[in-house]
Amino acid sequence: MILTVKKFEINYKRNDLYQVGIFGEKLSHSLSPVFQNVAFKYCQIPALYEVWEFSKDELHERVNLLRKPNSLGANVTIPYKELAYDMVDDLDETAKQIGAINTIVNNSGKLKGYNTDVSGFIRSLKEIASFDPTGKNVLILGAGGAARAAIFGLVNEKVNSITVANRTVDRAVKLINDFGVDQEIFSILSVYDEKISEISLRADLIINATSVGMKHSSMEFESLLSPDQIPANCVVYDIVYNPLITPLLKNAQEAGAEIIQGLWMLIFQGVDSFELWTGKSAPVQNMYQKAMEHFKSLG
Ligand code: NAP
Repeated sequence: MILTVKKFEINYKRNDLYQVGIFGEKLSHSLSPVFQNVAFKYCQIPALYEVWEFSKDELHERVNLLRKPNSLGANVTIPYKELAYDMVDDLDETAKQIGAINTIVNNSGKLKGYNTDVSGFIRSLKEIASFDPTGKNVLILGAGGAARAAIFGLVNEKVNSITVANRTVDRAVKLINDFGVDQEIFSILSVYDEKISEISLRADLIINATSVGMKHSSMEFESLLSPDQIPANCVVYDIVYNPLITPLLKNAQEAGAEIIQGLWMLIFQGVDSFELWTGKSAPVQNMYQKAMEHFKSLG
């Protein structure tokens, strides 16, 4: 029996559809199918974006399945971003630098790995806030995986300075050691250091890349900066996307600063992936709208 895929509201048969999806271990809350399927539908591309949850020992086989003619490729998320890096045939320059991939593109059986966490983050800054990072002073709160992607992008864009403020200072030291040639642009301090005000008040861009402010966490109602620590003429980007307006973003609004919601980082990594798979411009606003509606439906 041939299954008609109704999700698309286009009468494609399942066997005729291009396949694409996301690799990960725990994906029940993934938003990627929500906004990627909207993009495929909008561009009238007969593809279905699925969630592919499996354990580590299946990764190699799953990556090889992406070589099939009807496969566009995949997104890759935690904990497979570094492992999948070693399983593709080719890598783009940013992926090589950062040592991890979140996107695989199938080019006639040859697999190329990309990191659109980095490119999407920079693109969101430019397209949502018209912010050109070149020559700017940045304060980034956090030194985990999300901070790493943001910092790679910002270093490539030739920012003037980056201060990394983390709860565990050693982790920040370890992170910046990966940026061999550019050490002079970095400084490090604890997120709880009083000197953080001096730095935040001189920043052109402040990024929260910690999980502070995340819904259902013990820090749900916390912000690492108060309104009086945020200058009115800066851009504040909170990578946390649930809730859409975090306590830090509320404080930034109170200070008169421009804000960027974390949902944009998620959308733009997906936008860049979509464009790599299809060669078409992604319908950014439709993708964002659909993701927002999904959030609202969750209550
Ligand atoms: P991670 O690697 O686990 O890093 C977590 C970071 O948060 C570390 O810097 C950690 O500091 C800090 N942190 C955690 N609890 C803290 C607390 N109570 N006080 C101060 N700092 C605290 O996680 P990640 O992958 O970088 O993700 C960080 C956040 O970004 C998460 O909320 C995630 O959902 C979000 N995110 C969003 C996107 C997007 O597309 N918008 C993409 C990726 C991640 P220590 O080093 O001291 O532990």
